[in-house]
Amino acid sequence: MTIKKHRNSWSVSTKLNHPVEVPLVDGNKPLIQPIYHSAKFTMSDSIPYWDQFVYGRISNPGLRRLELTLAEFQGREDCIVVSSGIAALTGVFLGLLKSGDHMITFRDLYKPGRVFIKDYLSRFGIESSILKLGDYKELEKAIIPGKTKLIHFESPTNPNLEIVDIKKVLEIAKRNNVLVSMDGTFAGLHQHKKFDVDIMIQSLTKFGNGHGDVIAGAISGRKDLIKIIREMTLYLGAHLDPQAVYLIERGLKTYMLRYERQTKSAQEIAIFLSNHPKVKIVRYPGLLENKWHELASTQMEDMGAVISFEIKSEVAQSADKFCHKLNLIQIAASFGATETIICPTETFFGVDLSKEEKEEMGINKFSLRISIGLEDPVDLTNDLNEALCSPS
Ligand SMILES: *Cc1c(COP(=O)(O)O)cnc(C)c1O
Repeated sequence: MTIKKHRNSWSVSTKLNHPVEVPLVDGNKPLIQPIYHSAKFTMSDSIPYWDQFVYGRISNPGLRRLELTLAEFQGREDCIVVSSGIAALTGVFLGLLKSGDHMITFRDLYKPGRVFIKDYLSRFGIESSILKLGDYKELEKAIIPGKTKLIHFESPTNPNLEIVDIKKVLEIAKRNNVLVSMDGTFAGLHQHKKFDVDIMIQSLTKFGNGHGDVIAGAISGRKDLIKIIREMTLYLGAHLDPQAVYLIERGLKTYMLRYERQTKSAQEIAIFLSNHPKVKIVRYPGLLENKWHELASTQMEDMGAVISFEIKSEVAQSADKFCHKLNLIQIAASFGATETIICPTETFFGVDLSKEEKEEMGINKFSLRISIGLEDPVDLTNDLNEALCSPS
């Protein structure tokens, strides 16, 4: 215990606001890191102030530790942890682009990201081309020399698990001196390490935290770019709350176990659905017959826990109605957590798309997306089977 010089003469209210300090001897420290709720730090005169922790909106030891853990885990140089996956996306776009610049992306994209590119970046004079997924000739043609600064894509895509040929995108981008950002949320944090994308974006709300009780995002990649993007995310006030930092660090400890089990169950359920007479289409890159199976196998070690499928029209009036026929599996947004959840893709992800676009992308009245959790897969297939076979 260290007692400040004049403590004994202080009044009660002064003492209560300056509790006694309990220093730890070297090597005696909490095994689980503390939650750094402090919004401010005292300054040491041993090094410049701005090389220290100063203010909670900028950083704290817990947040920085999580950033370094994630950078290492993903095999990237540095990382910024922010308050949501969408803050990661907008932070990257606003950090790397300015008025007069142009970016390219594919139409198959997490909906709020697509809306931000279409409706908000344009307000700041940042133009975009939104292409059909997998049209690599068009991708090269869409590059405007001197103007196009970024190609952004997602793989696998939401909601139908289409796979982007990352090698092809990188070749085109490097040849034309354009930066590449990838949203790898659907695959999780441990995959795609071998691809030299400049920026990797993750919604930690999904597999990273894994328990469905935190919203957070991460931006990882080249140190020089991370430095530029960090200035933007700081001005956006996108820092993550200390309690959430703690929960993500805790969630990450079981990441590999969860992912392995969820992928294994997803493979079983994808096979069950593809053999079911009431199911029209199943989209899961782990299925041998899936059009992306081969490409996905060269890019990913694990095929993930999300499956997209379409029921036959005789099963229910709509995908929404089908969801409410299920008993164990709940209708809810998001994915990658411990409980299995399902959502109709048209009502959740199709609102800003035209009828033709939705048709081309396989989003309709009967399409669904299911995220497999940690339940026993037999209970899940029983629940699905009952809803598929009961009269509508
Ligand atoms: C969920 C999601 C996001 C957004 O993440 P939030 O944490 O919900 O803001 C971005 N990209 C993809 C692919 C997602 O699935």
